[in-house]
Amino acid sequence: MKVRIDKSACVGNARCWAVSEELFPLDDDGYIQVEEFDVPPGMEELARRGARACPERVIEIVEDDA
Ligand code: SF4
Repeated sequence: MKVRIDKSACVGNARCWAVSEELFPLDDDGYIQVEEFDVPPGMEELARRGARACPERVIEIVEDDA
């Protein structure tokens, strides 16, 4: 599973970070710091929850074999 984030559309409300500080680190200004990464094994549900938590819908989940 991969996560893709449209950083330019992030509004910096830290909802994703509140779900997982590890998966969704923020920069010094409070905006999402990462753009694309592989989800570590066992963290898939956290990644999905983080994506759902983003009111701007800028976090996209890319399932394997999709
Ligand atoms: S929840 Fe969405 S808008 Fe808010 S900081 Fe995370 S990526 Fe940005």
